[in-house]
Amino acid sequence: MSQFINGQRCAAVAGPTDVVRDPSNGAAVAEVTLAEAADVDAAVRAARAAFPAWSGTTPAERSGVLHTFAGLLADRAEEIAQLESRIAGKPIRLAREFDVPGTIDNTAFFAGAARNLEGKATGEYSGDHTSSIRREAIGVVGSISPWNYPLQMAAWKILPAIAAGNTIVLKPAEITPLTSLLFAEIAGEAGVPAGVVNVLTGTGADCGSVLLRHPEVDMVSFTGSTRVGRTVLEAAATTAKRVHLELGGKAPFVVFDDADLEAAIHGAVAGSLINSGQDCTAATRAIVHRSRYAEFVAGVADLFAAVRLGPTDDPATDLGPVISMAHRDKIAGMVDRSRSYARVVTGGTVPGGDLAAGSYYAPTLIADADPTSEVVRDEIFGPVLTAMPFDSDSEAITLANDTPYGLAASAWTRDVYRALRATREIRSGCVWINDHVPIISEMPHGGMKESGFGKDMSTYSFDDYTVVKHVMYDITGVAAKPWHRTIFANPEAR
Ligand code: NAD
Repeated sequence: MSQFINGQRCAAVAGPTDVVRDPSNGAAVAEVTLAEAADVDAAVRAARAAFPAWSGTTPAERSGVLHTFAGLLADRAEEIAQLESRIAGKPIRLAREFDVPGTIDNTAFFAGAARNLEGKATGEYSGDHTSSIRREAIGVVGSISPWNYPLQMAAWKILPAIAAGNTIVLKPAEITPLTSLLFAEIAGEAGVPAGVVNVLTGTGADCGSVLLRHPEVDMVSFTGSTRVGRTVLEAAATTAKRVHLELGGKAPFVVFDDADLEAAIHGAVAGSLINSGQDCTAATRAIVHRSRYAEFVAGVADLFAAVRLGPTDDPATDLGPVISMAHRDKIAGMVDRSRSYARVVTGGTVPGGDLAAGSYYAPTLIADADPTSEVVRDEIFGPVLTAMPFDSDSEAITLANDTPYGLAASAWTRDVYRALRATREIRSGCVWINDHVPIISEMPHGGMKESGFGKDMSTYSFDDYTVVKHVMYDITGVAAKPWHRTIFANPEAR
């Protein structure tokens, strides 16, 4: 049963079937039927029907349901981690220690945030009126999410939307729908009413594009590639929907000459290999002061070689496969092309033996690539880090900003003034100092430039998922108001 519509698991009305596979060994995990236009329509109608009652609940009521939801997720944490690990090829340690606890924490956070919708103070701004602000739910949200963090992306889309009183139809990536479906089902068990959360398993072409254009969808929120994000904007324009876009990234990792190099090397390895590098904020471009460059490259290469690739169900495994053989071939192609213009220091290989049945790729470090080259400019979305040297601070910042993306970045330095300049001058939605990757429910996640706009997590996400309404009350009780002079030159004469 690959759809969750109006509180029920169901099959798609007529769509073709597909198989969800474990990327670590190619084994079938589940067969799914794919949603098409009729299923989208049923889910959107369910969300529309549920909207008046859900948006009319009190913040305390929504909060109570979300608290129960967080508790049920915690009770089933191991089951969810196992499923997420199998469908997304995540080492079980990552799923247990990052994806699932992060999702439970995010759910608990939005249980609290639901009671904390803020606005400007009511006041008399004209002298003749009292103005107040209402922050209202937008309506039906149509969301589309990617395959790299299926569970967390479902949570990041669903939680702020429903905490603010909206209803939602989420289309996860068709190759990783199972934990999004389970998340919605557990939400129902926690007391989220039927129709408030709906999940459709379907392709971008036959399900996602229909959802984006549905006239009863008030807002679209999309996480995925910048290429598809552009088509989302075009589709939303047809009915002037509100849009929230979390797109690609190519995060710089700037190491100044005064940095703690051991910390920077550890940070670069963890920050570039997290989730097999399939993380939109992952460190991808190490930009290192020339005086520390050789030492940095050698240190990262040593640690990359020590990372243990292995079966995803083994708690000792550090690095799992990438999402599919097709994606691995794309990564390998980019690395292979780079051999003609850069230096592949370590990696660049497909592991054989027991791992041959999975889509594994060795941690790869590419040094000396030109800033205009493919591996430096384009998203690789795999366990690949590039490194290049710089000579001056201003050159480092220029290189960091020399990308169409602007999602995340880090700067490594012991100098507080350098750190402050880097946080001000690097154009991205997040800048870490002496770390790379940590996120936290209280703080926003979102991009600049071609990484999109809008925020996930934190109460800033409510700026996307609510609309601010101005209400103005006349407080004079006067029939002929002073401003009526614009129409009646002499109101007294009438
Ligand atoms: P993708 O853009 O190929 O697909 C994302 C989703 O869009 C999937 O559900 C897919 O089915 C759907 N889709 C594809 N074509 C569509 C269309 N024409 N109409 C409607 N829906 C369509 O991305 P992906 O390969 O699944 O994920 C990787 C990308 O996601 C990377 O670029 C990564 O940087 C980005 N990402 C960004 C963030 C962020 O927060 N900024 C987080 C995670 C991933």
